Amino acid sequence: MPIDFLASLSALTDAQLLDSVRGLAGRSRAVTAQIVAHLAEMLRRGVALGEGYGSLHVYCVEALPMSDAEAYLRIGAAYLARRFPVVLEMLADGSTNVSNLKVLSAHLTQENHLAVLEEARGKRKHQVEQIVARLAPRPDVPTSLRKVPKPALTAVPELPSAPPAPAPATVAATGTPAPRPTVVALSPARYSYHVTIDEDVRELLQLARDLSSHAVPHGDDSAILKRALEAYVMQQARARFATTGKPREGTETSPESRHIPARVKRAVYVRDRGRCSFVSADGRRCDARHHLQFDHRQPWASGGDATPDNIRLLCRAHNLHRERGRARSGASPGLPQAERAWP
Ligand SMILES: [Zn+2]
Repeated sequence: MPIDFLASLSALTDAQLLDSVRGLAGRSRAVTAQIVAHLAEMLRRGVALGEGYGSLHVYCVEALPMSDAEAYLRIGAAYLARRFPVVLEMLADGSTNVSNLKVLSAHLTQENHLAVLEEARGKRKHQVEQIVARLAPRPDVPTSLRKVPKPALTAVPELPSAPPAPAPATVAATGTPAPRPTVVALSPARYSYHVTIDEDVRELLQLARDLSSHAVPHGDDSAILKRALEAYVMQQARARFATTGKPREGTETSPESRHIPARVKRAVYVRDRGRCSFVSADGRRCDARHHLQFDHRQPWASGGDATPDNIRLLCRAHNLHRERGRARSGASPGLPQAERAWP
């Protein structure tokens, strides 16, 4: 029963818990590699067809039963394993996974597969997409403006007496969900961005082009968007981290004050790109964009001041994690070992 599982886990130390989950994940990877190998052999023999299933995919979904997504990715890996058996070993040892193999599959050749698989070892999917963008760079897409059919209006009763409710950001005024913008890696550090805009935005874009025609080369909408977004981000940061009231003379930058001035918060928020800045010992940066807190690198209690160099964004989880680490080590805030552990 699940409750028994949980009860047995609660007695484990952190190290035992991590060891245990690593062991399970390792066994799961080995099983996945074995399943992919079996599927590759089944493909070779055509055994699913012989059993009366229309395809190996149907067999996987109905007889095993896998989800459509699991079947799709594992069969894709099986096709790849027939060409490059080394992927089975890499699946088993966790160097790659079926999602990453899907991204790479069209770009592996007899000549490059060992080097490319090695480069993609241990990477996340978006990083593997960047490898593909380098292997098969696509040209920047031309800036284009195309009229799309207007979605049919749904019958929404008018309620003139009630104030209009603010529409969620992802829902267009028509009540039809706005299509999600798509960002596609084209080549190293280059992306295409496809978004549907309304007439007002088109007019504003043209106006921005006209006003900046001396500073921005004709047709470089990316440069216009960058300038516009930089200005917008600063404006929003000023609104979000507004100075409240007039600080007392000399207190705004005083090291004795725990208060973090609004201008420092703005600078830190924009510098850290609104993301948790925690970086693990092996260089992994946290992706969290929510529940962020301003953290003193050198604690205020031990003389850390409220300057951009000493302030960083941390998500709540990493801030708590850091505090727990200090508490466990018995360190009071600001002792050197805590600073080394959390650079
Ligand atoms: Zn974090």
